[in-house]
Amino acid sequence: MQKSLPVVERARRPEWMKVRAPRADSRYFEVRSLLREGRLHTICEEANCPNIGECWGRGTATFQILGETCTRACRYCDVTSGRPEGMPDPLEPLRLAQAAAQMRLSHVVVTSVDRDDLPDRGAGHYAATIRAVRRKLPAATVEILTPDFLGVEEEALRTVLAARPDVFGHNIETVRRLHRQMRGAKASYDKALWLLRRVKELADYDVLTKSGIIVGLGETNEEVVETMRDLRAHGVDVVTIGQYLRPSEKHTAIDRWVHPDEFRFFREQGEALGFGSVFSGPLVRSSYRADEQRHAAETGRGAVAY
Ligand code: SF4
Repeated sequence: MQKSLPVVERARRPEWMKVRAPRADSRYFEVRSLLREGRLHTICEEANCPNIGECWGRGTATFQILGETCTRACRYCDVTSGRPEGMPDPLEPLRLAQAAAQMRLSHVVVTSVDRDDLPDRGAGHYAATIRAVRRKLPAATVEILTPDFLGVEEEALRTVLAARPDVFGHNIETVRRLHRQMRGAKASYDKALWLLRRVKELADYDVLTKSGIIVGLGETNEEVVETMRDLRAHGVDVVTIGQYLRPSEKHTAIDRWVHPDEFRFFREQGEALGFGSVFSGPLVRSSYRADEQRHAAETGRGAVAY
């Protein structure tokens, strides 16, 4: 469901945060109608992403599985929080694969809400989705961006990895000092690091791991670099860094507008730390140009700042 545009702080957004409206001659409307036909959700809409005109315009989107309602309530996130109703729709993976094929995607990106109410936290649904995409689009690569699978981590990782996603993402989101305040007591900075390391340990194939950091929540630049250092120490290949946008007055306030020069600084630091790819820029999101992020990491092209 398309949400209304965020209004808070829009008026004083700096020039570098301005985005273009979708162009009539782009693929935006084609993508929107395929998603509607497939009754599919995207994080692009649910999180009110500022890049939707660009991403949908180039024929890409990030699917959001397991429903619209998240069992967590992170202070920066626009996804609806509450008690989800019922079990996952067993036909969603097939509809998603069908839409991905109609969109002619070569890299399919899938994320989800947190489902702490499900016994497997949604791991089986992730695996079913990856397999459905593989059947329909054998040449495509698949990237997932998962929750932390609270309490059933090891089993959930084994279930998902058995379906062999090409890229396994889990966002650390913020620096250690702010983690609990922003993400609540159920999430943990160290758990996120553990999960990313464990993916590499459990996978019997070359999987890329990836994580994202939101800036403008009250962290210092040194803390961002420290977080990148922690991610590298846990084998993470790809990192993304982007500016926080406050979805509503209920959400935490923006602490600062991070300047493009600071994003360049993060990129240089990330390069020096040895990430395969660093996407760092005001409008970067973990799924922003995910196909290019993966390609950069695999070909050693390295860092990009937008
Ligand atoms: S950056 Fe990601 S969430 Fe935002 S519009 Fe693009 S694909 Fe969707």
